Amino acid sequence: MSPGVSVGTAYCIHEIFVNPDTKRLEDREITAELARYETARDRAAADLRALQRKVARQVGEAEAAIFAVHESILRDAAFTRKIRAWIVDDRLTAQAALHRLLEQYTELFSRANDGYLKERLNDIRDVVVRLSAHLSDVLKPESLALPSPLIVVADELLPSQVVALGKVDVRGIVTQTGSQTSHAAIIARSRGIPAVSGVRGIMRQVTTGDTIIVDGREGHVLVKPDPEVEAAYRKLEREFVHLKDELAANRDHPAVTSDGVHLELLANINSLADAKAARAMGASGVGLYRTEYLYLTHPNIPDEDEQFEAYRKIVAASPNRNVTIRTLDIGGDKTVPYLGHHYQEANPFMGWRSIRLSFEHPEFFNTQLRAVLRAAGEARQHGGSVRLLFPMITTLEEIRRVRGMVRRAGTQLAEEGKPFAMVPIGMMLEVPAAAVALDLMLDSVDFVSVGSNDLVQYLMAADRDNPKVSHLCQPLAPAVLRILHNVIRICLRAQKPITVCGEMAGQPKSFVLLFGMGLRSFSMSPALIPSVKEIASHLSELAARQILQEAMRLKTTASIKRYLDQQLGRIAPNLKLLDTV
Ligand code: PEP
Ligand code: MG
Repeated sequence: MSPGVSVGTAYCIHEIFVNPDTKRLEDREITAELARYETARDRAAADLRALQRKVARQVGEAEAAIFAVHESILRDAAFTRKIRAWIVDDRLTAQAALHRLLEQYTELFSRANDGYLKERLNDIRDVVVRLSAHLSDVLKPESLALPSPLIVVADELLPSQVVALGKVDVRGIVTQTGSQTSHAAIIARSRGIPAVSGVRGIMRQVTTGDTIIVDGREGHVLVKPDPEVEAAYRKLEREFVHLKDELAANRDHPAVTSDGVHLELLANINSLADAKAARAMGASGVGLYRTEYLYLTHPNIPDEDEQFEAYRKIVAASPNRNVTIRTLDIGGDKTVPYLGHHYQEANPFMGWRSIRLSFEHPEFFNTQLRAVLRAAGEARQHGGSVRLLFPMITTLEEIRRVRGMVRRAGTQLAEEGKPFAMVPIGMMLEVPAAAVALDLMLDSVDFVSVGSNDLVQYLMAADRDNPKVSHLCQPLAPAVLRILHNVIRICLRAQKPITVCGEMAGQPKSFVLLFGMGLRSFSMSPALIPSVKEIASHLSELAARQILQEAMRLKTTASIKRYLDQQLGRIAPNLKLLDTV
């Protein structure tokens, strides 16, 4: 969820698999529809060929081969014959024909009960989605002329869709899947847009054009509300906007507690726009730049110069040119086809993701490291500082390996005479094993950044994107608080810089506890910085320690939440609208 309230017009992004197009073509439309399909097919084929060339060059022939397979599916005579016949004989739109085709194949392959065929089905689905994207208006809401602002409703929102939506006035996001830390929610929060995820069945209840209310504080969504309800929410929405404006005014004030303790409030960013938002919201730097979004939203695979350019621009736009760049964190809920993720894993979050995947593609990884070191060189010339952060570190061996690879990238650049700078190297602490054995790893890293989104899901054995287990995936669970308290204590004792960059760092209740544990560096969605600054200004170290002590005595997540709600109501009652349940 992302806090706040908004009222707007629903804009539903239907997955082709969920909701087929039911329109029947008129006689005179058939030829044009066939031509539309041919154009989409040519464009999709061009995408695939470009991808194949680039992946072959930068990752390897084996990884690129999948795109040749996809192109052969696209060109397959039976595939094309069926689509054309349904457009002509049954008057289906090309979208609807694709939907029917996918249904047919799914039915056929599910009877086969064969792993190989299931994988082929994934390839067909991939091709259909690519074709469908070229055919549809999915990412062109402006062409629908809906009254602004829009509330986007989707099954799940892909990062590339969110980027495309950047052009329209989106004031709310509702998704059927996902939870507090799924990437759609994170992106919504980074933009300060109210959002609710995990709303089962919402796609059946709402149609594009309906008035819809998103209440990100309580996690409610109301479709076609009564006029009195709508009026009440419009009032709340005005208060929410007013509060945000008021708090944004404190952006030039330092982040200091009521008893004068200085805090480092950093931003989590995914894009250049976020870097600018970080500055606008008064962050003192970027604590987490998720580079995977560069790959996920890039039409092709970004090469070293493209990456260098992107990182350079992000560093230049970030507050104080102070940026912690995290290497590619693909896998789990974020996949790119050219990195071997076209086949579904049984347990993607515990599988081949993140640093594990980077190790398997050393040349590809090396390209990213070189681009970061070059951007670091330029940052240093302008008085900035770049750090490198590695995700999903589980063992000491991984840190040693990473250090070796960074050294190698530096040596190469030095030999080539390219300007660069070596940088501090940090581990993301998001695997419980690393938290338990942290003392063994600490000497080998320059800093630690706690990825609490993943740490919580792994510790609680509860998928961060599955609404059915979201009652377990809770950062305020006693077990989570204990492990965090311990990790922070170990780092403080060793004088190792530590930041928390998971979503909890910017949430009022957990912020108070983390501060009480001795944490001084917090990285969060830019939009949350003003409210955390405000809470800090009403909080002393002693008060936070006392609140922590009491919270650590409580035995359940629910009682901890209740207690913290009470305390926050006392400390900063004006911020109620910006909290979530
Ligand atoms: C985390 O896991 O807490 C984190 C910050 O990384 P991400 O949300 O990108 O997995
Ligand atoms: Mg993570």
